[in-house]
Amino acid sequence: MAVPQNKITRSRRGNRRSHDALVPGNPAECSNCGELKRPHHVCVACGHYADREVVAQADTIDLDEDAA
Ligand SMILES: [Zn+2]
Repeated sequence: MAVPQNKITRSRRGNRRSHDALVPGNPAECSNCGELKRPHHVCVACGHYADREVVAQADTIDLDEDAA
């Protein structure tokens, strides 16, 4: 089994891990409802993208429309 030839010092380990931090998201405000949303993604609150509704919201769908 392969074994490291030299010990990684605390310094080198820290230098490697200095690039491991997670970067925060960059939320943008929805132009329709003002909710924070991911940029270039459909707003999860209102289903709008680029000022038009692309995903119908559950409370606006009439389930009895096609019944009977
Ligand atoms: Zn929205």
